[in-house]
Amino acid sequence: MTSNEPKKIKCPQCGRLTFYSNENQWRPFCSERCKLIDLGQWASESFKIASEDPLDLDSLNPDDFNTPEDDNV
Ligand SMILES: [Zn+2]
Repeated sequence: MTSNEPKKIKCPQCGRLTFYSNENQWRPFCSERCKLIDLGQWASESFKIASEDPLDLDSLNPDDFNTPEDDNV
């Protein structure tokens, strides 16, 4: 019984099976692309939070975020 076999994991980004090994420099992702996509989502997510100023909420019109047309798309 060998324990040298690399562990197989699912890529968090695309769900494809990939090896969680030292040879996989993009682990836990299957590829550079998936890693960059994930990092991009994380970055845009934090950017959204960072750009959200609670003090400005009162001066914003809620209708700006809620257009009826968008709900039907
Ligand atoms: Zn992937």
